[in-house]
Amino acid sequence: MRTPTAAQSPSIARSLAEARPASFWLDSPDAPEPVPALAGDTTADLAVVGGGFTGLWTALLAKERDPAADVVLLESKTAGHAASGRNGGFCSASLTHGLANGLERFPRELALLERLGEENLSEIGATIAAEGIDCDFQLTGELSVATAAWQLDGAAQDVAKAREFGYEADLLDAGGIRAELNSPVYVGGIRHANKNAMVDPARLAWGLRRACLARGVRVYENSRVRSVSEAGSGLVLQAGYGAVRAGRVALGTGAFMPALLRRVGNWVVPVWDYVLMTEPLSPSQLDSLGWTHRRGASDMGNQFHYFRLTRDNRVLWGGYDAVYYNGGRRADDYATSPDTFLKLAAHFFAMFPQLEGVRFSHAWGGVIDTCSRFSAFFGTAHRGRLAYAAGYTGLGVGATRFGANVLLDLLAGADTERTRLSMVRSKPVPFPPEPLRSAVIQATRASIARADRNEGKRDLWLRTLDRLGLGFDS
Ligand SMILES: Cc1cc2nc3c(=O)[nH]c(=O)nc-3n(C[C@H](O)[C@H](O)[C@H](O)COP(=O)(O)OP(=O)(O)OC[C@H]3O[C@@H](n4cnc5c(N)ncnc54)[C@H](O)[C@@H]3O)c2cc1C
Repeated sequence: MRTPTAAQSPSIARSLAEARPASFWLDSPDAPEPVPALAGDTTADLAVVGGGFTGLWTALLAKERDPAADVVLLESKTAGHAASGRNGGFCSASLTHGLANGLERFPRELALLERLGEENLSEIGATIAAEGIDCDFQLTGELSVATAAWQLDGAAQDVAKAREFGYEADLLDAGGIRAELNSPVYVGGIRHANKNAMVDPARLAWGLRRACLARGVRVYENSRVRSVSEAGSGLVLQAGYGAVRAGRVALGTGAFMPALLRRVGNWVVPVWDYVLMTEPLSPSQLDSLGWTHRRGASDMGNQFHYFRLTRDNRVLWGGYDAVYYNGGRRADDYATSPDTFLKLAAHFFAMFPQLEGVRFSHAWGGVIDTCSRFSAFFGTAHRGRLAYAAGYTGLGVGATRFGANVLLDLLAGADTERTRLSMVRSKPVPFPPEPLRSAVIQATRASIARADRNEGKRDLWLRTLDRLGLGFDS
């Protein structure tokens, strides 16, 4: 896709001039008031650290398993403020960052993983319905769109394979894909009619938080856990203005996890991903897209965009630049990145020239917990009293609920279908230590960009990493 630079097209800069530097999802009058921070010392059967999807589902499912359990949740800011409230809202059944990655990493147990993933998605829908969570959850399926012929190499085999695993998948020609979503640059694509829902992620997080509170989970916001230490038969968390002594601890702190559990830093790196949101489209602008099924979509390059409609007919447009700041820094300043926003806006108008003149209302970034196998890993520490889940990479909206069940199984010492999975028992290939880590990641990003310019051909560097099972993605 050829894109003008911002300098060549002042209208692109103008489209961003009024954009608020905040997640559209979180920037809502419906955001709940924070609950008070922890003050003083307390005890709990289970302490959950992190108020993103991992932590919220862990606390809620713990109460479902045992309503009498005394559960505390500690969140350093407010529930959902990090990746869980900043993402694209694609809620996939896949636990493996897509079928192709699952086939590559866990071929022998993929049928089981797909079944567990489908059950997980339908249980997410059931909880949303039972709790009355108003988060615009819609089982739309999704589209993969090709903007260059090489992106369709092997697509027929991919569709056949997807059908074997229960996907209602169809290979579409240019006319077929443009009937789903109209862009002059599409040359074909794949429609998956099932196994994916679209959701408003912040409203989902807030709804889960409300459900936790209603079940008696004691939630403390603005309560960053500073340390975890062993004390007798339990663990003590120093947090906020107090401490929690708990029998068991579940860590759901995503990309921030290495601060509390150093070893996790071997397997996870913080990768920044950026998103734009348009103002609501007019009826004629919406008609020009023909996006009647409202399926979320992504393009099929190695560096890909994802895009979708919101309830009020805005277009969310994110991805492409997956940025690792050397040394793995996570400063909040990185949540805005004008260069990336300009590039994203230029790409947007190249794909949808009929939307010329549309403005962006929001532009933001968020941190992804990327690991080299692009799908979650799990473990325990402190003699099994603490369990952790991280590494969802860019597909954790749905999979975090599955991860929460794994955490609870691990903390119970239970032998389950989930804990027997090699996905749960194995770890990703570790990233090398800094400064080699930065060099490897930046070389990989450059090679990926080169592959997209070179009809998808993977160079020697990428082929070597493929063989080592070491990847980089958002
Ligand atoms: C821009 C972007 C787009 C994405 N798009 C999609 C998508 O469309 N579909 C999809 O499936 N996935 C997507 N993802 C990934 C998805 O958002 C994550 O996989 C998921 O939200 C991870 O949830 P989590 O609870 O593990 O982590 P987080 O949401 O990051 O939550 C971790 C929480 O822990 C808290 N915390 C950290 N340290 C401490 C501490 N010491 N004490 C107390 N609390 C602490 C943090 O404040 C935070 O609230 C996207 C991510 C980003 C950033």
